[in-house]
Amino acid sequence: MNMPREEETGERADAPYGENRRKGRLSEMAGRRKGGEMLEVSDLTKKYGKNLAADHIGFTVPDGRIGILLGPNGAGKSTVIKSIAGLLRYKGTIRIQGRDAVSLEAKRRFAYVPELPYMYDALTVREHLEFITRAYGVDAAEEEVRRLLGRFELTDKQDKLGNELSKGMMQKVSICCALITKPEVILLDEPMVGLDPAAIRELKEVILERRADGCTILISTHMLEMVKELWDVTFVMDRGRIVGTYPREAVADEDLEALYFSVTGQENGKDGR
Ligand code: ATP
Repeated sequence: MNMPREEETGERADAPYGENRRKGRLSEMAGRRKGGEMLEVSDLTKKYGKNLAADHIGFTVPDGRIGILLGPNGAGKSTVIKSIAGLLRYKGTIRIQGRDAVSLEAKRRFAYVPELPYMYDALTVREHLEFITRAYGVDAAEEEVRRLLGRFELTDKQDKLGNELSKGMMQKVSICCALITKPEVILLDEPMVGLDPAAIRELKEVILERRADGCTILISTHMLEMVKELWDVTFVMDRGRIVGTYPREAVADEDLEALYFSVTGQENGKDGR
């Protein structure tokens, strides 16, 4: 879930709750872009002790496109996404719309759906959405909240507490919390894992709708199957490095699969690398 940070809520204390600070933002995006692609990562390096989890990573997701970080378990995908989300200390530069990702201006523009959803035990599903919209200063109409809950089959769960939800339900709430803030950039870490088929289909539709609205999206996954109809550019990661960058216009799905196996060396099965 894209949890608000203390300094973010503090920064927004000057605006009354419910003020629609993002109204019309997506339609204004083109006019306000100040040069630079929407999401740029350069020379990102992250070590856990001696383990180099991200090794001079560089990539760009262009405005209004869907980028996929594809790689085997332990490749470093979550490390990259968490770094962009500001959850890790790292070396290198990450820019959102030309702004340093650690700045509040940048943080306001993105939403993050973590691999493992986090819920507040004492808040109901609906209260999670209310909390997040207030913290972000976003005006979400009742109809919008109702529609979102309906799309993810949470309508009859809206009064359940965070600790009364199944893992899949938590994941859906986490996705709803990200979407309700009307972000310009959405970071999704293995978002399909734990979701039922209906929710996966809904999430894919939402992702395509948001792209059509001009949103820039980065999804990490180890399952190419899950993102086949979504990707505009795929970055294949392996052992902390980007080992291939493939734009949709240059590579078909089948070719991408073959390329994936060849660049990650997984084609031999087990650990034939
Ligand atoms: P998966 O598909 O399994 O989720 P991933 O591509 O997201 O994997 P990461 O979670 O980024 O990979 O992990 C990359 C490397 O960093 C792995 O070697 C992992 O063991 C290591 N790592 C990740 N988080 C930590 C941590 N908190 N402390 C120490 N090492 C970590």
